[in-house]
Amino acid sequence: MSAPKVHVLVDGYSVLEGDGKSMRANCTCSVVEGPPHIIVDTMTAWDAEKVLQGLSSLGLQPEDISYAVATHGHCDHVGNLNLFQAATHVVGTCVSRRDVFTLHDFDSGGTVFPLFHVLQSRQTMQQSVAPVANPALLPWFVTPLRPSAEPYKLSEFVDVIATPGHTSEDVSVRVRSRHQGLVIIAGTACGTVAV
Ligand SMILES: [Zn+2]
Repeated sequence: MSAPKVHVLVDGYSVLEGDGKSMRANCTCSVVEGPPHIIVDTMTAWDAEKVLQGLSSLGLQPEDISYAVATHGHCDHVGNLNLFQAATHVVGTCVSRRDVFTLHDFDSGGTVFPLFHVLQSRQTMQQSVAPVANPALLPWFVTPLRPSAEPYKLSEFVDVIATPGHTSEDVSVRVRSRHQGLVIIAGTACGTVAV
């Protein structure tokens, strides 16, 4: 099995609207070209054509995808999971295929996300939400270290790890890639964690 390559199919964005009451946002959609082929964050339900066109540009069809990962369960990350009927679905720390759910205790990424980075992230998030929330209510930004926890392995080169984010179950995809070195597809952790 050769090392994978990471492709960004569509760039994400997040912009507060002028009235301050709504936000225009969508995730970055990425593909890890394997095998196994992996799609990470499938955008909103209105973006199926973009996802399909992006896959096609890589010579891939939905049935070629073995894992469809959503870094967390928000609408812009899970909108097109139904395109990937041949894949195992990973939504945050929930792993399933059809109606069978795999019980897996995710870890926080070991050496890639050492504790001080997680703590740094927590501090950043506290500062950013301080005007609207009590930082004491945000303990989920530090993933506890548990003896039984481990990354969820997708291949020899790719695994899924629990990381800070804006839900209690965010994950990131860690890829030891061909030509690109170590790549972390970080979802909402990307603005807060230095790696
Ligand atoms: Zn979100």
